[in-house]
Amino acid sequence: MVTIAVTAEGPDEPRFAVSPETVKKFTALGAKVRVQSGAGLRSRFSDDALTAAGAEIAGSAGDALAGADILLKVRRPAADELRQLKQGAIAAAILDPYDRAGIEPLAGTGVNLFSMEFMPRISRAQSMDVLSSQANLAGYKAVVDAASLFGQALPMMMTAAGTVPAAKIFIMGVGVAGLQAIATARRLGGVVTATDVRPATKEQVQSLGAKFVAVEDDEFKQAQTAAGYAKPMSAEYQAKQAELVANHLKTQDIVITTALIPGRPAPRLITRAMVDNMKPGAVIIDLAAERGGNCEATVPGQTVEVGGVTIVGAVNLAASVPVNASSLYAKNLYAFLELFFDKKDKTFAINWDDEIVKGTLVARDGQIVHPSLAPQPA
Ligand code: NAD
Repeated sequence: MVTIAVTAEGPDEPRFAVSPETVKKFTALGAKVRVQSGAGLRSRFSDDALTAAGAEIAGSAGDALAGADILLKVRRPAADELRQLKQGAIAAAILDPYDRAGIEPLAGTGVNLFSMEFMPRISRAQSMDVLSSQANLAGYKAVVDAASLFGQALPMMMTAAGTVPAAKIFIMGVGVAGLQAIATARRLGGVVTATDVRPATKEQVQSLGAKFVAVEDDEFKQAQTAAGYAKPMSAEYQAKQAELVANHLKTQDIVITTALIPGRPAPRLITRAMVDNMKPGAVIIDLAAERGGNCEATVPGQTVEVGGVTIVGAVNLAASVPVNASSLYAKNLYAFLELFFDKKDKTFAINWDDEIVKGTLVARDGQIVHPSLAPQPA
């Protein structure tokens, strides 16, 4: 029988790698899920609920790990945890794989490591895409947090005592997080505008009832890669974009920035001078904070005030809705591992040739193997 171990996360991570729903599904596939006692509590997954779904509760992390075939985590496990697994075991988590110095000791344990954030963006892997499942929640929570920091109401209200104007909400970057931010901002009654460099987003923005704001020149028409991501834009385009954005920002109450380009620092879309021209009381939530921020004044992990404008360097916002974030992340992990269970024989075997495996496998048999992590030539 395949044993799946799930142990507690660190103090800053309330999310958890299995839910009662996925424990039930793994159990139905013939696996045994061994969960460290109390480890799911910050996602409201009690030992009782996990046991009812079929999990075995282990008194300690060591008891959960001992001889297990698979370790599931949200964040990178410790090398010590990996050493307690069975020889040839696998571990799947959000590994932060570009930090090679942190990954090497883990690879050295011989455990085969899968980095969920490397999931290929192909339709077969959509249900396994942790970046999407978490970004969607982050986009939602950014708007809710902004609404609570903004000292005014969002929807227009016509009352006997007078009219409350609708808040103007601007979403910069219309990927997964941005689309959910637009939808949430609309539901809360804001007047919503959005910008992106990918032309495909214009229709998406309009279909959500928001207005699209962008420099729509020839370069803009070519700004999407075959994989659906943004390309870095020319200095000329950026200057035109900056002028348009600078003018637009002067009138906005809430700005949510989500703009990213894979493998690069976040594009700088809001300068300090633009912040200085914004209305006092305005709120910026910078979801790109972890990658350097879309706003020049952003401090990752902190909320700062600049000339009356509140700027939130949002980090791991999905974790602030841990119940949903864990449920979706757990489903992503389940969808990934389900591929390798033989439903008839109840056995588990990785198909090393599968493109989903090749895309996510970071270390195999003690070596770092992912092509994106090859050492750079000196
Ligand atoms: P992302 O997090 O990489 O970037 C967020 C947004 O920022 C993107 O829309 C990007 O175009 C935009 N951006 C970059 N530079 C900008 C700039 N200078 N100004 C304004 N905006 C800028 O994107 P994402 O959320 O991961 O989604 C990227 C694409 O991948 C989308 O088309 C999405 O629908 C698609 N996607 C596909 C799958 C799948 O098929 N499995 C899964 C998720 C997302």
